[in-house]
Amino acid sequence: MKRPNLETLLIHHGYEAKEYGGSLTPPLFQTSTYTFETAKQGELSFRGESNQYIYSRLGNPTVQLLEERMAVLEGGADALAFGSGMAAVSTVLLSLLKTGDHIVCSKGLYGCTYGLLEMLQERFGITHTLCDMKSENDLLHASTLNTKVVFVETPINPTMQIIDLQIVVSAAKKQGWITVVDNTFCSPYLQNPLALGCDVVLHSATKYICGHGDVVAGIAVCKTAALAECMRPMRKDTGGIMSPFDAWLLLRGLKTLAVRMDRHSANAIKVATFLKEHPAVENVYYPFSTDHPDYHIATKQMKQGAGVISFTIHGDMEKAQAVMDRLELISIAVSLGDAETLIQHPATMTHAVVPKTIREQMGIHDNLLRLSVGLEACEDIVKDLEKALG
Ligand SMILES: *Cc1c(COP(=O)(O)O)cnc(C)c1O
Repeated sequence: MKRPNLETLLIHHGYEAKEYGGSLTPPLFQTSTYTFETAKQGELSFRGESNQYIYSRLGNPTVQLLEERMAVLEGGADALAFGSGMAAVSTVLLSLLKTGDHIVCSKGLYGCTYGLLEMLQERFGITHTLCDMKSENDLLHASTLNTKVVFVETPINPTMQIIDLQIVVSAAKKQGWITVVDNTFCSPYLQNPLALGCDVVLHSATKYICGHGDVVAGIAVCKTAALAECMRPMRKDTGGIMSPFDAWLLLRGLKTLAVRMDRHSANAIKVATFLKEHPAVENVYYPFSTDHPDYHIATKQMKQGAGVISFTIHGDMEKAQAVMDRLELISIAVSLGDAETLIQHPATMTHAVVPKTIREQMGIHDNLLRLSVGLEACEDIVKDLEKALG
């Protein structure tokens, strides 16, 4: 039988109601530990010779269902769930790297990922180089003999530049580097880096996978079982696993991922078009706008543009902040991918930890705003922006 489509897998994969008394929704195993029938069973479990659950930091049925579903959605062999997106980023990097190793990363990263890379460099001697990644040559130039990992965000947060994953994979395959892609801005519905040859895909599940702004969580999906096995001990001993209740909420969120992403994307393209025509707006960065410099790469590797738009306004930081303060429907908040439209000022909020000179290099200017277009009526979102832009 042909494999079901992604929209169907989001709702059904890995769950059989008949195994759980017919319960339509998967049960929540809200337990920290599991009882053994005999001492011998306990001994065998700890030796890894039984597949009985032991303790929820090592594994939990609700969390495992989410992992299995995410692995299939991204086309990986296995997945690991984490207590936050940053727990996923840090555990993946700590599993793959040791002192002396080097990372090539996209010029433009989530603020805390940048903060982590700086800490790894200063405290543990794991170095990194920021790279444009426009060509294989760029990647080679940024690499050293000790490069082990290429870390990519695409679209880049918050400037919405796109990195051509085909170029990254081609260079990485020749050099033996492991490619790790932060796919948070797309979700598995819009972009599948593993299908393009990448090795590990990460998500802040806090964003589109949850979709309702009520969970902080992360996921890493690995192309091979061996990669997942190399990360499991690090997750067990650093301890950043996802809670069963959060996994249960994410399983619920996943069911509507496809319809939500369709609506986020449809709203965002309309809002981007409105912003582009507004005289108070200087530049608009949305990957599926035909005049976006990376439009052809975006449409090659993404199904739709998702909900995040960045734009600069004519004027300085005070002007940008004043626009935010005049909004009524749209909330001032970091995070993205929620039903509510959110706006934030990267230079003073999500990317405040990045030194100003590097921020400017990344294209994060003081007049840049990042909008996460929600699921409200597009007309109402546009009306709110129109009033605030004056
Ligand atoms: C939010 C975010 C993260 C961090 O995830 P948390 O769940 O907040 O820990 C990492 N990468 C990107 C692109 C994000 O947007």
